[in-house]
Amino acid sequence: MRVHFHGAAGQVTGSMHLVECAGKRVLLDCGMRQGSREMEAANFEPFPFDPASIDALVASHAHIDHIGRIPLLVARGFRGPVFAQEATAELMPIMLLDAASLAENDADRANRDRKRGQPEAMPLFTRDDVEEAMGQVRSLRYDARTPVLTGVDIAFRDAGHILGSSIVELWADGKKLVFSGDLGPKGTPILRDPETVRDADLVLMESTYGDRNHRDRAETISELGGILERAWNDGGSVLIPAFAVGRSQELLYWFARHWDDWKMSRWRVFLDSPMANRVLKVYDRHHALFDAEAQDVWRGTPNPFRLPNLHATVTTEESMAINRIERGAVVIAGSGMANGGRILHHLRHRLGRRETHVVFVGYQAEGTLGRKLVNGAKWVRIHGGDVQANAQVHTVGGLSAHADQHGLIEWYSGFDPHPPLALVHGEDEARETLAAEIGRRFGVEVELARPGVERDV
Ligand SMILES: [Zn+2]
Repeated sequence: MRVHFHGAAGQVTGSMHLVECAGKRVLLDCGMRQGSREMEAANFEPFPFDPASIDALVASHAHIDHIGRIPLLVARGFRGPVFAQEATAELMPIMLLDAASLAENDADRANRDRKRGQPEAMPLFTRDDVEEAMGQVRSLRYDARTPVLTGVDIAFRDAGHILGSSIVELWADGKKLVFSGDLGPKGTPILRDPETVRDADLVLMESTYGDRNHRDRAETISELGGILERAWNDGGSVLIPAFAVGRSQELLYWFARHWDDWKMSRWRVFLDSPMANRVLKVYDRHHALFDAEAQDVWRGTPNPFRLPNLHATVTTEESMAINRIERGAVVIAGSGMANGGRILHHLRHRLGRRETHVVFVGYQAEGTLGRKLVNGAKWVRIHGGDVQANAQVHTVGGLSAHADQHGLIEWYSGFDPHPPLALVHGEDEARETLAAEIGRRFGVEVELARPGVERDV
């Protein structure tokens, strides 16, 4: 068995690794690179292998940086099966159709502004490409070891990162490879903790937060309650930019859990995102995958996804109508970094008012509107207009969907004996810190996977 590292090796996006085993070629993830314009342009480049030569693809979870180039792989000749856990298989088309729409709209806009002689802009892939690729998906349950090609077995184990997220076990040639995918933190709401795996000949482990530990979650949650209280007393509304998968559902969960002590019934809560609402339905269908605490919450009242004051807004008109509400609205809308999506028109409408509270619950990358607001910008540009930022801006940390350094080390320590380890999905600083720490504690060889490098298992 031989592993070729191709993406998310030295960075956190574009996850992709090729495994040669039993005379076959299996691809683990096929993610999109995200971030700067240059990084995103790299998605158009040829794959570092012939897509037609791949026998099967295994998708760890439905985040775009793990699945975003699957339609392109298919458009360029891949004809094999795509294996995914059942919930992942349902989330994938939602995520990919959204990405295709964005890409098609961007290309249309670029072509409208195109100067003579400039080449026509093309989307990375289209909705038709997504439909085509989804025809190759085969869904598997957690914990079922399954032969996927002659001589190759895989199993998915719950990774506790988003619904359906998986640790991948792969057996072939008398060896076993374990790919962590993205690992969630222990005690994350709704989801179970990442499963412990005991044996492997090589482990590929993510290392996003390899150099830091998260804030205490309980503190974070009480902070959120405090902000809602202040916003109510100010006679304002609350805007929460959030990603459609994971964080949006988590917020509704906290509202249900704290229904009485946060006096949630006095608010009108809006989940203003067609995608988040579609994702909600997938979460609902798969509530058997939730942890015991969430199962309890789901049996009680109110149900997080059916809060009596929850309005799932789908059409643009419904979304615009929220502007007419003077006070007492909690609006959850994408994008999570306020660099696009419906949250922009809410910010444009309410950012000028002192009584508005804007709550950031995730990482805000350099160059995004979210980052500017977090840094205290007094004026920002939204949809071509200047808007004064008088609202009260809060950053609520500690809701990460990734295990921190402590969690990563704990997961690795479950292997007995401790196998060699290759760190992927992390920037170098995080990986180096984690590699040193694991090397010191367990006396094992830790490799920082580099793109284009291969190793035998
Ligand atoms: Zn992820």
